Amino acid sequence: MISLTSARARVLAGCARLDPRAVPLEDALGCATSVAIAAEEASPPFDNTAVDGYAVRAADTAGAPVELTVVDTLPAGAAPSRPVGPGEAIRIMTGAPIPPGADAVVMVEVTEALDGGQRVRIDQSVRPGEAVRPAGSDVAPGDTVLEPQAELTAAHLGLLASIGVRKVPVHRRARVGVLSTGDELVDEARPLRPGEIRDSNRVQLKALLRGAGCEPVDLGLVRDDEGAITAVIEKGVQECDALLTSGGVSMGDYDLIKVVLDRMGEMQWMQIAIKPAKPFAFGVVGGVPVFGLPGNSVSSIVSFELLARPALRQMMGHKDLDRPRVPAIADEAFRRRVDGKIHFVRVVAGFGEDGRVHVRSAGAQGSHQLAGTAGANGLAILPDGEGVDAGAVVDTLLLS
Ligand code: AMP
Ligand code: MG
Repeated sequence: MISLTSARARVLAGCARLDPRAVPLEDALGCATSVAIAAEEASPPFDNTAVDGYAVRAADTAGAPVELTVVDTLPAGAAPSRPVGPGEAIRIMTGAPIPPGADAVVMVEVTEALDGGQRVRIDQSVRPGEAVRPAGSDVAPGDTVLEPQAELTAAHLGLLASIGVRKVPVHRRARVGVLSTGDELVDEARPLRPGEIRDSNRVQLKALLRGAGCEPVDLGLVRDDEGAITAVIEKGVQECDALLTSGGVSMGDYDLIKVVLDRMGEMQWMQIAIKPAKPFAFGVVGGVPVFGLPGNSVSSIVSFELLARPALRQMMGHKDLDRPRVPAIADEAFRRRVDGKIHFVRVVAGFGEDGRVHVRSAGAQGSHQLAGTAGANGLAILPDGEGVDAGAVVDTLLLS
């Protein structure tokens, strides 16, 4: 068995960053920027009002209450057609430009329109600059708005749109082919025959890929047949940036995926000192990284989280490769035996009334027992030993 750390290092060493490209903001959520991005436009582009009210000369309001003559109305989107002179005000709506002459805005709530809107009574004085959002007060031209390798959030996309950026340079999403292998697997909606099970890994892995910001490519369910597996792998390495296979990495005899991958590329078949997900393979076939995940459904998730996801994030230019790891309080004892492995327990993690993260088992922990994993949002890490008592601190990876 090798350590998880060394397995992870081998995988990361084989996964180079994908080329940068400019993508529309629409498609960039979660991608990592490839370069720093500087603003070419100011935001806001002009001084404008933060409230609905009256643009005034602040000095005119010093003796409030005062009455001013309303000389114009400015909705958002309109350009001022005249300045505000002494003793004057312009009715103004949130977002409209501050007219020349005015230096503050009185919010409508402290005013009273008089003479059918010809005049206004101002009940509170304002200081110069009040309720004015100056040009460039969010972003000034030349400001660096994003560092390289920033993971784009919804707010980043809004920020870029606000300064006129329509396409953003990022490392592109990895196109990742997913195939299932095994004669026992069934894809169609028909009753199972003896010995058959449903293919659950493919849909699950495609969803995990989407969640990791990748573009999944469904390569289907392949029989344990050398020719069929070869054809699919050949197609996969042509069309994809990486491949995920599931099944055929354990010690079974009929696992032809092993034979095919060994013939086509440089594979490393590993036994990692973790539970679940001990068997794992990684290699490069036709220049494309291939992750051989274990067939058991829970193992394939854990293997994806610990090994494939960090590697794919590295390919997509991310700085933080791993899920956040937090110390959590075990709300129940997590018992295990000494076996030289790190155990990853599927847990439900949440905040307790003490403000700390607490974890409890998500259910049955067998490597085929998806029901016990489906509700989990964390993996509690039990180093080799006998486990922890209730109330102890257990480091936990947060999956969501
Ligand atoms: P293997 O590594 O091929 O020996 O598979 C290990 C276990 O995972 C066996 O019980 C398989 O039937 C099961 N398995 C393999 N592939 C899948 C899949 N795509 N969906 C669900 N179970 C699978
Ligand atoms: Mg198999």
